[in-house]
Amino acid sequence: MSSTNNISFLILVLLQVLVVLHTNYVKVNVGANQGTPAQFILPESLARARSGVIGTAVSRIAPGSEKRISLPDIQPHHSQYYAQWLYTGRVFILEPDRVLPGRLGHRYYEMEEHARWGHHLKVATELRDIDFQDALTDAIIEWINEFREGFDRRHGEMLAFRIDRDLSPDSPARRVPIEASIKYWRTREFKDLSLVHLKGPEWFVQGLFAELVPFVGSTAVSRKSIAFPKDLSQTCDYHEHTRLGRPCYKSPLPL
Ligand SMILES: [Zn+2]
Repeated sequence: MSSTNNISFLILVLLQVLVVLHTNYVKVNVGANQGTPAQFILPESLARARSGVIGTAVSRIAPGSEKRISLPDIQPHHSQYYAQWLYTGRVFILEPDRVLPGRLGHRYYEMEEHARWGHHLKVATELRDIDFQDALTDAIIEWINEFREGFDRRHGEMLAFRIDRDLSPDSPARRVPIEASIKYWRTREFKDLSLVHLKGPEWFVQGLFAELVPFVGSTAVSRKSIAFPKDLSQTCDYHEHTRLGRPCYKSPLPL
């Protein structure tokens, strides 16, 4: 574990102790079906406000009983991500001590970061936490903006598959891999663009073609002019909360 992760872990433990001392909390048993059971202590108000699954489970506990719920299919180390999200309200994919793009060893970090993001997204879906999903959309947009022209076809296809696995068919986040691919893929990656060669899900392939049409044969407008958010003030069009009529996770939580 890196020094940054050590500090993050210690802060998490300290916060958990403070929560136990000063807040109503809920004990969440995880991992029973994964062979590695563990228990997390989460602040009840935050957990209920964020997660539909935890909120429903806690509401079924009889008044006066210990607030303890079980989520046997969730892996313990994935729950740690979720606890960090509840306490900080942000998702951190880019770590301070990471190897930057273009540096030796970055490829390993890159795949690890992408896999970690995928695990987060799975947990967000399992716990029905729309805010966590939206925060993850922002995290992957930040990740893409660090790569820029380094965001290649493999990244686009991989991201589309993860979104396809966990988010609903009408999720606005589907636009992220499509628009990022149009903007950042190298020209050669479009050369053999066909339904046969592309490996992404069907909506991704169709979306790419649909977005590319206005640029085909045009010398006046480059595909690289397609809009893609530069910072987190421009990302709500890609969030689930917009179609659900809810405030953004970046708004203060009414607790
Ligand atoms: Zn938003």
